[in-house]
Amino acid sequence: MLGKRSLLVGSICLSACTPTPRAVGPIPPVEVQILAINDFHGNLETPPDPVKVGRPDGSAMTARLGGAAQLASALAKAREGHAYTITVAAGDLIGASPLTSAYFLDEPTIDAMNLLGLSVASVGNHEFDKGSAELLRMQSGGCGKNTTRVPCRLEPFAGARFQYLAANVLRADGSTLLPATAIRQIGPIHIGFIGETLRDTAIVVTPAGVAGLHFADEAATANALVPKLKAEGADAIVLLLHQGGRLPETYVEEGCSGLSGDILPILDKLDPAITMVISGHTHEAYACELQRGGAARWLTSAGKYGYLYTDLRLEFDPTTHKQTAERAVNVPVTGELGADANVAALVHRYADAVQPAAERIVGRLAGVAAKGPGDQESPVADLIADAQLAATRPQNRGGAELAFINTGGARTALEPAADGSVTYERIFALEPFGNDLVVKTLTGTQLKALLEQQFKLVNGVAKLNDSILVPSANFHFDYDLKRPMGEHIVAMTVDGKPVQPAGRFRVTVNSFLSSGGDGYSVLTEGTDPFDAGIDLDALEAWLGTNPAVPAVGRITDSTPR
Ligand SMILES: [Zn+2]
Repeated sequence: MLGKRSLLVGSICLSACTPTPRAVGPIPPVEVQILAINDFHGNLETPPDPVKVGRPDGSAMTARLGGAAQLASALAKAREGHAYTITVAAGDLIGASPLTSAYFLDEPTIDAMNLLGLSVASVGNHEFDKGSAELLRMQSGGCGKNTTRVPCRLEPFAGARFQYLAANVLRADGSTLLPATAIRQIGPIHIGFIGETLRDTAIVVTPAGVAGLHFADEAATANALVPKLKAEGADAIVLLLHQGGRLPETYVEEGCSGLSGDILPILDKLDPAITMVISGHTHEAYACELQRGGAARWLTSAGKYGYLYTDLRLEFDPTTHKQTAERAVNVPVTGELGADANVAALVHRYADAVQPAAERIVGRLAGVAAKGPGDQESPVADLIADAQLAATRPQNRGGAELAFINTGGARTALEPAADGSVTYERIFALEPFGNDLVVKTLTGTQLKALLEQQFKLVNGVAKLNDSILVPSANFHFDYDLKRPMGEHIVAMTVDGKPVQPAGRFRVTVNSFLSSGGDGYSVLTEGTDPFDAGIDLDALEAWLGTNPAVPAVGRITDSTPR
């Protein structure tokens, strides 16, 4: 499929033009290949779960996909026969990573990206998980300690050889944290890249991670950079944007039928000079030409975790360097093309080094603690809340009386081995963020206001949001969706006693929530904060003595039917 665009090529020649000799036959266009990935999330090893995915020939397959070495091999194969090629990414390369990468602060993932030939990447929201100083270390290298984890644990870290771009990430003085744009000469063609993360990065990332930064409007920021890139000689402008669309059926269908989501209003406003948008964040796979806001352009996204890459082609008139055509297709990384030896060696080195830590048994569990949708209480969220309360109940550990976990903070179910043992790797996958626990005092009035922040209006109908607050076993609340916003909570009890508005309660949450994460701003108003250490330590201590899987029943939907 070739997406043609109409162009005004050349100029009208009147009397003063020198006639140019006619070429014999048409001159073929110059083709530039762009290979793109997004949302790799440190998946150095091939993820265990099979994925159903469409193939470029229109067939579907279900297989294990991805793996950094397999991806490197697939990209190398894709480049064969292409003189003019570049590899780019659209954010979330790091963050929310499996232990093999996360234990080493994602240093091996940056190394893998270097080895597989990445040239330019936009930042995503997860690039900010550990704060801007750590992101700058990912770019520049070094062993500076910006987190509770140990940097350069295995070997020195030289940083990214690719360039991170962050056009809409601004410091207080208005300067960008990282360069806004990059121009890459690919054969005779100059391509200008703009890199951006979603404007809502400040909402979805732990507030401490984005302190002092402002995230500007995606379309307005990109459009303002178009004249600069043109003046610098860009023949085409490509936007690497960590924001995307959603499809009714993930991965299976090529094209964008039924595409919705936050990318569309951005496309409506984009300058037509931006002829290609390589997107991400939603973990969807699509590649299609879209007509939005008076311009036709290609929009792509390659799923997540290195399951797929996008192979994009731009064609240019060899004389004028005007772009004449473009197209794109997603290709699954099946492993059939082998594993790049250098990347495989890197992955093995880190996988081996993490093994003792990963396999350490931290406790026992009587069965699977299941995870539910974000708007529901689940056994695994209950378990975390109970662990957090137990760890912070002693007076010298914060004196907590109840605890909450956001369902977005419980990433997986917790499944013990056949003998009931639970490894560090499992609890790490459940809580990969490295949050601390914070105990704060809230009044009864504040507690109610906090719980009211769980609701949103969708087309005038009240719903629970996607990351609700699950309490420890000694706290219970009832809600009624039919009541007005701000009045949904109809009952709250601590240890069986109704919460009085003037009461004062020591409440434990993770540091993400404590700083207002997931929109729970009431928690920033809590007083007498006490930092009670790392969330995973609390879970480990709990599983060491409490193998029971909690039964749900702490939250009651009392909406009249
Ligand atoms: Zn994202």
